[in-house]
Amino acid sequence: MNNTLAEIKDRILEAKNIYLASHVQPDGDNLGSLLGLFGALKKINDNVFILKSDDIPKDYLFLSGIENVVDHNPEDLDLFIALDCAEEHRLGRNKKLMDGANFIINIDHHLSNTNYGNINMVDSDAAATAELVYILIDYLEIPIDEDMATNIYTGISTDTGSFIYESTSSRTHRIAADLIDKGARTNEVSINLYQSNSLEKTKMFIEVIKDMELLFDNKVSLAIVTQDKLKKTNTKMDDTEGIVSFIRDIETVEVAILFKEMSENEVKLSMRSKKYVNVSDLCGAFGGGGHKRAAGCTINEPIGVVKQLVIDKLKEMF
Ligand code: 5GP
Ligand code: MN
Repeated sequence: MNNTLAEIKDRILEAKNIYLASHVQPDGDNLGSLLGLFGALKKINDNVFILKSDDIPKDYLFLSGIENVVDHNPEDLDLFIALDCAEEHRLGRNKKLMDGANFIINIDHHLSNTNYGNINMVDSDAAATAELVYILIDYLEIPIDEDMATNIYTGISTDTGSFIYESTSSRTHRIAADLIDKGARTNEVSINLYQSNSLEKTKMFIEVIKDMELLFDNKVSLAIVTQDKLKKTNTKMDDTEGIVSFIRDIETVEVAILFKEMSENEVKLSMRSKKYVNVSDLCGAFGGGGHKRAAGCTINEPIGVVKQLVIDKLKEMF
């Protein structure tokens, strides 16, 4: 790891310009890592930019510096740093910018990372990419201010399910503690991300969860978000954050699956597990990936077909 850090440091110090990017469908670790590293690199290089990959869910608009996540079209891209992105195609429209970059650094914690960078700082023991961002900033000896601390803390808090997932290590807690010492506004994060559900979102949760199914001796929970349900409750797919963990938390459940009907022939799956099922493998069977306990994939079929495909796959396991 120290060799990798030294090489990354050299590249960062030499770079004329640096562009940071992460995966489509941004989440807390994606945005927290981007903004945390951006805050640090801005202190040593004026030409640092964040590439927007997708719309930003409104829950994250409180993050300081979020206005820097915009589109750019650089002609000469020197150093591209991909954060929290397991595969190149998950960069969405920024993949072609990466392909034209002089040098690529890939910083991630996904088990399924394909090591597509010229340097790969990939550690699947890290609970969040933001944990690796902290380690890098520490190595670069760049002071962490309150905004950076809050952003990095956000990445760690969201990817650990508020410090409950098994990926949460003593290192995770030590880093979080140091971020709090450096001024991370933990209450701001908790209120904005966990305690600000709209009434519409709450009604949609009820609507979706009331049709939840339990299969395989109640070891598997399934719930479906259809476009109809979103319309009926005046909500958006972004508002579904939290449903899959809610249905995972049932005592008997090992695997929870949320089916999100993005359009008539496109369903995005979010899977969570607790103890022994590797959902990254399960999603891998459908071209997706992620972590042992949290993974996802997209299947381009109507919702009824997708549900059957997944149930058939589960039959092989249970
Ligand atoms: P979520 O269910 O919260 O969307 O995603 C859970 C985890 O799985 C995240 O770490 C996310 O990056 C990963 N993930 C979600 N969808 C996909 C996908 O289509 N492909 C891959 N490789 N990873 C995914
Ligand atoms: Mn992550």
